[in-house]
Amino acid sequence: MSEPIVQYKDVHKSFGDVKVLKGIDLDIHPAEKVAVIGPSGSGKTTIIRMLMTLEEPTSGDIIVDGTNLWKMEKNGAMVDANEKHLRQVRGDIGMVFQHFNLFPHMTILENCMTAPINVKGEDKKEVEQRSMEMLERVGLGDKFDNYPSQLSGGQKQRVAMARALVMRPKVMLFDEVTSALDPELVGEVLEVIRDIAKNDDMAMVLVTHEMDFALDIADKVLFLDEGVIAEQGSAADVIEHSENPRLREFLSRFR
Ligand code: ADP
Repeated sequence: MSEPIVQYKDVHKSFGDVKVLKGIDLDIHPAEKVAVIGPSGSGKTTIIRMLMTLEEPTSGDIIVDGTNLWKMEKNGAMVDANEKHLRQVRGDIGMVFQHFNLFPHMTILENCMTAPINVKGEDKKEVEQRSMEMLERVGLGDKFDNYPSQLSGGQKQRVAMARALVMRPKVMLFDEVTSALDPELVGEVLEVIRDIAKNDDMAMVLVTHEMDFALDIADKVLFLDEGVIAEQGSAADVIEHSENPRLREFLSRFR
């Protein structure tokens, strides 16, 4: 099997006295699609926010494509990573948030172009072309000069996906991306994620409450419960065949 693209090694995270993650060990392989399920407050969002470097682990290591996110070598010793190191590793990770986080004063094309140009220093023409391709891919090529306020929630979320794809990340993170949407808009967003999952060879981690969707696209499902990975395996094993009583109770809320 290939080397993992992401490794969590005994990762703990506390906020003050509250222990939110209590020893996460996890390998994610290139192209693997991982769904994270579990009750509210179990630590799902914290797991992926740490990968995006939005939260720092209290202890343990997170390694992306051989690079430790939070530690770097200096004069032969491992020291805390500096901003430059963090900026570099962040370039490998794309994230789509529950609340879109688009820049309201930029057109949707500008939203897609800003990070590759300003963070990665890429060529403007090339980025513009790639941005238009990605907007077309999510079905919004004709809206490139609209502002976010002119779009529906589902369309905004599709822009957020195009924007993340333009960065050509090694890993894409999706944090409950349909939970802020009106029910009739959920389908179009899931359809775009399904297309990305089936056709792109980057790794994906999705926090989701859409169990049928997880069954359809995930290679691996993690059930997070009180800060530990309580079950993991194929989507069918975890969602359909597990006998873990807490997992069964959790899943019964979706049936
Ligand atoms: P989930 O995504 O499974 O609902 P989260 O990872 O969002 O869980 O949160 C896990 C726990 O950590 C919750 O109890 C939440 O209140 C707490 N938490 C998350 N972020 C912070 C923060 N920045 N400061 C304090 N507590 C936090």
